[in-house]
Amino acid sequence: MTKRDKIGIVGLGLIGGSIALALNKKYEVVGMSRSASTVEYALKEGIISSAAEKYDDFKEAKAVFVCVPLTRVKDEVSALYDALGDSVIITDVGSVKGMLSGQRGRIIGGHPMAGTEQSGIHAAREKLLDNAYYILVDYNGNEADLAYIKELVRSMGALPREMTASEHDALVAKISHLEHMAAYSMVNAVLDGDDEIVGSGFMDVTRIASSDPELWNAVSALNRDNIVSELGRYIEILSSLRGDIAAGKDVTPFFSAAKEKRDRLTYRKKFLSSYILYVDVSDAKGSIVAILSKLAEADISINNLTVVNSRAGVGGALRLEFKDERDYIKAKEILR
Ligand code: NAP
Repeated sequence: MTKRDKIGIVGLGLIGGSIALALNKKYEVVGMSRSASTVEYALKEGIISSAAEKYDDFKEAKAVFVCVPLTRVKDEVSALYDALGDSVIITDVGSVKGMLSGQRGRIIGGHPMAGTEQSGIHAAREKLLDNAYYILVDYNGNEADLAYIKELVRSMGALPREMTASEHDALVAKISHLEHMAAYSMVNAVLDGDDEIVGSGFMDVTRIASSDPELWNAVSALNRDNIVSELGRYIEILSSLRGDIAAGKDVTPFFSAAKEKRDRLTYRKKFLSSYILYVDVSDAKGSIVAILSKLAEADISINNLTVVNSRAGVGGALRLEFKDERDYIKAKEILR
């Protein structure tokens, strides 16, 4: 198969490496990274087709993805523009989009709404962006370039959605940034450093507190107004709950309203491939294998599998993540 257009990637970490893996079969992916060892690994593992040493090596590329840490995105985009001008589309993957407003060039902002708390090329996965929304911002009205990036996003298996930079930043403050602030705060409120016993609920709610602190410091600074406003609303809700509990009020309606909204979301959403089932497992030999065999017989694919809260002699739970609603519902019926 002859590879199609040449695509550049600067920053071969979790996101850049995953984009390279997702595109490299259909496109010729040229990669550049800060560390020589990252580039060597990417070449050896076939994550990229060739390496670029300087921006000029992207001259023949149709588009260059900027996948460096958030604090570096603005400078990297403007350095690329200075070197290549309007000869290529420049598209970033930064988690905040307002910072590129006003940047000249064929700039299409992007934000893949997928990730993990890991970083670096070794954490890159071909399917990381599968089924995830990928938000695109056309800063300078370059419609043909937007269409081209949409095509690339679709070939990664992701779902392109277009919005303005300010719509994006307000949305992510609500659906992603607030959650990180809450997770970091909860860990600091609860753990003192040598804790051994925690509930599985704590683990669920705080998974993202293992995310890169420097990235989240940058996000907090770059999306400050929206985050301050979302934290304000959240603090009001927490204070009101605290007041109601202190006053001995019935808080069932508050929890029911949240449960109802959350349950509805699980069935509707494709976002972050999040169709999750928890299945109790006994401590008996082979109990996990038996569950997995049943699902395999029914041709159900599991995206991700974790054993939670497992202690010798007590058993635990399996956390199974499915790619789509069909597999999720089928698995639920089988394991009921
Ligand atoms: P990452 O795994 O740490 O990868 C960052 C990459 O940038 C690495 O290839 C690294 O190079 C390179 N790099 C590091 N410092 C640099 C510097 N000072 N100058 C130039 N290159 C540098 O990070 P990531 O999670 O992929 O994040 C990259 C971008 O994706 C960020 O802008 C972030 O906002 C965005 N994003 C992240 C997530 C997520 O969940 N992590 C989700 C959506 C979007 P070497 O490894 O070669 O040293």
